Amino acid sequence: MLLDKYKDLNEDQRAIIESTSQFAFENITPNALKWDKECFFPKKIYKKAGDLGLAGIYVSEKDGGLGLSRLDASLIFEELAYACPSTSAFLTIHNMAAWMLSNFGNKQIKEKYLSKIINMDSIASYCLTEAGSGSDAAAMKTKAKHHKDNISYDINGSKSFISGAGESDVYFVMLKTEESLKDGISCIIVDKNNDGISFGKNEEKMGWKNQPTKTVSFDNCIVPISNLVGSKGEGFKIAMQGLDGGRINIASCSLGAARFCIDKSINYANERKQFGKYLKEFQDIQFKIADMVTEYKAARLMVNKAAVSLENKDSDSTVYSAMAKRFVTDACFKICNQALQIHGGYGYLSDFGIEKMVRDCRVHQILEGTNEVMRLIISRKILGRHENE
Ligand SMILES: Cc1cc2nc3c(=O)[nH]c(=O)nc-3n(C[C@H](O)[C@H](O)[C@H](O)COP(=O)(O)OP(=O)(O)OC[C@H]3O[C@@H](n4cnc5c(N)ncnc54)[C@H](O)[C@@H]3O)c2cc1C
Repeated sequence: MLLDKYKDLNEDQRAIIESTSQFAFENITPNALKWDKECFFPKKIYKKAGDLGLAGIYVSEKDGGLGLSRLDASLIFEELAYACPSTSAFLTIHNMAAWMLSNFGNKQIKEKYLSKIINMDSIASYCLTEAGSGSDAAAMKTKAKHHKDNISYDINGSKSFISGAGESDVYFVMLKTEESLKDGISCIIVDKNNDGISFGKNEEKMGWKNQPTKTVSFDNCIVPISNLVGSKGEGFKIAMQGLDGGRINIASCSLGAARFCIDKSINYANERKQFGKYLKEFQDIQFKIADMVTEYKAARLMVNKAAVSLENKDSDSTVYSAMAKRFVTDACFKICNQALQIHGGYGYLSDFGIEKMVRDCRVHQILEGTNEVMRLIISRKILGRHENE
């Protein structure tokens, strides 16, 4: 079957997807609408996911992760997103942080944090955006000065839109060390129970409702210098490399939502009658479904290409990740929205699950770099950087 999710997978991938699908079906599918309505962050389910290795999917086995490929990870996130894009998307952020620590952290900081993050005893958030610096992330103002004890930083500033804030145990914070710009941006881990860290109100938002989004503020927050991930000044590189994978993962979450909406639409077109005919007998519905499946398939190929490119550390992998994120999140949002149209008024009702997919997918076009910023990355590679940028 064209839409058989196991088609084109090797034996190992089939086994991974089978177990992920079962996990999602038992733990996420029955609860997704309720969590959305109640804005409930499912910590216990994340812990179960951690016990299955899903919190360190592409962290090396040597560091306690599953050591799977980026492509395998994307298949897993797609499968989880079929049940709930928001639940899957938060896990992608956590996995991104786990990989950043595994790839750039020294032995000492890995010993302090990594195993807890990988079994999800410790939930991680990624803190880059600030109120005044979103797309232009490098213009951040959060700063770390040397504390008088000489072994700590004194952090001041504030990060906006942080997924998981208030619930997460550790925060991977991108900030400027010292007052001059010469040190560049660094990445440091701040614990939730550190003095001087505080959280704003939970933002009310369109989708991704089962995970909190809050401001994280630092007011003379004293953190050991040894909590740096990578060297001083390496933070922007770490944050951006994390996002190369993050963008593929977010695109995979969009794929899961799109596939769910396609399956629902096919069923509905086979069941629903109007004017004495099944919906599937109207050419407009046939063409809509033909386009949805074609675009889903094209989107999956883009993700595969980007995932393999990143896995192989190709020099074009950043651009392929940006292309995948741009193309796939736009295409899948359109697929979900078409599914809503095919369902008529029922698509607009919560019980059918389609409107949640539309709401959840919309933000994928905005975060981890807006789709306009993805176009910047792609065009710079093709045309070079211009003076006015
Ligand atoms: C639900 C949610 C969760 C999030 N989670 C996190 C998180 O966990 N951690 C984190 O660090 N951040 C997070 N973010 C922040 C997110 O990454 C930013 O919102 C995003 O990067 C865009 O920044 P901005 O909102 O400030 O928009 P702006 O940068 O102000 O952009 C506004 C508009 O201008 C466009 N634009 C900006 N610059 C250019 C340009 N040069 N050329 C063309 N167009 C341009 C943008 O594409 C956009 O359409 C989250 C956001 C949301 C909504």
